[in-house]
Amino acid sequence: MKPFTTRFAPSPTGRLHLGHAYSACLAHDTAQANGGVFLLRIEDIDQGRCRPEFEAGIVEDLTWLGLTWPLPVRRQSEHMAGYAAALDRLRQLGVVYRCFLTRREIMEQSMSAPHTLGEGPEGVIYRGPAQPMSHDEEDLRVARGDPFAWRLSIRYSQDLLGEEFARLVFVERQIGSNEEQIVTARPESLGDVIIARKDTPTSYHLSVVHDDALQGVTHIIRGEDLRASTHIHVLLQHLLGLPRPVYFHHPLLAGPDGKRFAKRDGAVTLAALRASGLSPADIRARIGLPA
Ligand code: GLU
Repeated sequence: MKPFTTRFAPSPTGRLHLGHAYSACLAHDTAQANGGVFLLRIEDIDQGRCRPEFEAGIVEDLTWLGLTWPLPVRRQSEHMAGYAAALDRLRQLGVVYRCFLTRREIMEQSMSAPHTLGEGPEGVIYRGPAQPMSHDEEDLRVARGDPFAWRLSIRYSQDLLGEEFARLVFVERQIGSNEEQIVTARPESLGDVIIARKDTPTSYHLSVVHDDALQGVTHIIRGEDLRASTHIHVLLQHLLGLPRPVYFHHPLLAGPDGKRFAKRDGAVTLAALRASGLSPADIRARIGLPA
């Protein structure tokens, strides 16, 4: 049996807050309790938003909390060739297509063709074009240098997989319980998600699935805000022939105002809490984890 391997995979787009501390410590403690491995992975494919000082802050904060992980840490921006190869595989399978629509155009389409859209956990759901773009038009737009995104087509995936598509499942478990639930994957609930872009051969969905397999991650412990994404990840794992980890989706911590911590709200950072005199044990007490 493969050793229990889990990871914490933050994006260095800001300083860590209590919600991150909870996710990281939970993954770390669960790995320890299972005699397993805890990995840190830096998800920095969005080079416009990620900054080296935030990556340094992540390492500093997690080290202060007492977490350890094997080196070197995988930094996604250094592995674009691997993601490009995975994208090529999806292209060979014929399950991705170039989409030249902007977000705004997709929104506008909702006026004329409401059946193509919906509101999903990741915002607007795009269900793909009524007709595929002609090769001539696609060639023209590529030659012209128009920006585009590669989207994973639910329809083409269903066509390729036939009945298997409806039988995709994953195992979900709760922390501290041995019970497991077999969940049927519903990738269609997210529509045709972006898998890569013209100048970046990957997106969150593709790189996370690629790396979890490459790094031998057997158990994924992450916030329940990513549960919807798991349905897409299961489809990608199947298409790419990758093993399927067991999933834990933990509740998101909320602050005293009842709102969950989020980087964009300027939630109190671990750095600020540390500066105010709190110890790692105080943090653990605040997030409800044993010392
Ligand atoms: N990088 C993702 C984030 O910062 C998390 C990835 C994952 O745990 O699957 O939200």
